[in-house]
Amino acid sequence: MASIFSKIVSGEIPCHKVHENDKFLAFLDINPLAKGHTLVIPKVEIDYIFEIDDALLGEMMVFAKKVGLAIEKVIPCQRIGVTVIGLEVPHAHIHLIPIHQISDMNFAKPKISISHEELGEIAAKIRSQF
Ligand code: AMP
Repeated sequence: MASIFSKIVSGEIPCHKVHENDKFLAFLDINPLAKGHTLVIPKVEIDYIFEIDDALLGEMMVFAKKVGLAIEKVIPCQRIGVTVIGLEVPHAHIHLIPIHQISDMNFAKPKISISHEELGEIAAKIRSQF
């Protein structure tokens, strides 16, 4: 069965798209730790990030870098935290999270509450940087 992220890639379910190319897609996390929390995925469905071949993984990180630099321009933060968890969705993804302090990267804390309207506005702002 296709992962929820493959369904996003195919357009079967919607997302707040931030950026894409032929191999990768970036979209806002629906339950973010912070405003601008973005996920970067390969369009091809691969569960574990370390199953991605070296060349594609390298390209994925370069794509994530471009997206992270775009997020930084529109979301006030000290840095973009970069992490991989992958316990919930079996489709490899990199989390890009605008942070001010280490505790902003704590995935065990409650997610922020944010409307679809605001997610849409944030995604549009980030998209405008490309
Ligand atoms: P993990 O697999 O542990 O890295 O977590 C998966 C992440 O995907 C979580 O932060 C979820 O909030 C996020 N997520 C799950 N479904 C969606 C979706 N349909 N759109 C955007 N983000 C999602």
